[in-house]
This record gives sequence, C-alpha cells and structure tokens, in this order.
Amino acid sequence: MKNVEFTCPKCGEIHLEEIMVDVTVTSMMSDLCIEDGFVNCRYIKQTNEDGIVDHYRCENCSYVLTINGDIVNDLEGLARWFVENEQIGY
Ligand SMILES: [Zn+2]
Repeated sequence: MKNVEFTCPKCGEIHLEEIMVDVTVTSMMSDLCIEDGFVNCRYIKQTNEDGIVDHYRCENCSYVLTINGDIVNDLEGLARWFVENEQIGY
C-alpha cells in the first residue's frame, strides 16, 4: 500500500473530487411550509445509491484528470494517473 496525495497540476491545490452521474438521491424532508404557492422545506438526511463515476477533478479549478487525453473514470485509472504524474509519496 502506498499513500498518495493529490496536487493539481494546474493550480497546485490538493482537494480531489469524484463526480458521479445517474445517482439516486433520497432526501428526508422536514419543516415543510407553503410559500408563494410552493412547498418550502429543509432536507435533513440524504443518501446516495447507485451511480457511475464520470470523472475526477480538482475541487478548486475543475481541472479534469486525463491519461493520454482519455478522462480517468475509475479507481484503477486513478491509480495509473497518480503513478504517471509521480504523485506517489511516502
Ligand atoms: Zn486545480
């Protein structure tokens, strides 16, 4: 096992985001009221199910991770990206 730390090649920030699509989000609704003809509420608990990874990107500048021009969209590809970008650490 090797620890890796993301550093954005474009802006230097360190937070990586996983972007998923086709996700089913279930929300528990609370504090419902009617305002101007619409229900207004607070969502107090959300769960996510299913979904597939679309891409990984820098949280700061939205730089999308690619290998040879192909968008990285799974954890195996993400491992390759870290190796190819020499971001393997300690
Ligand atoms: Zn960035």
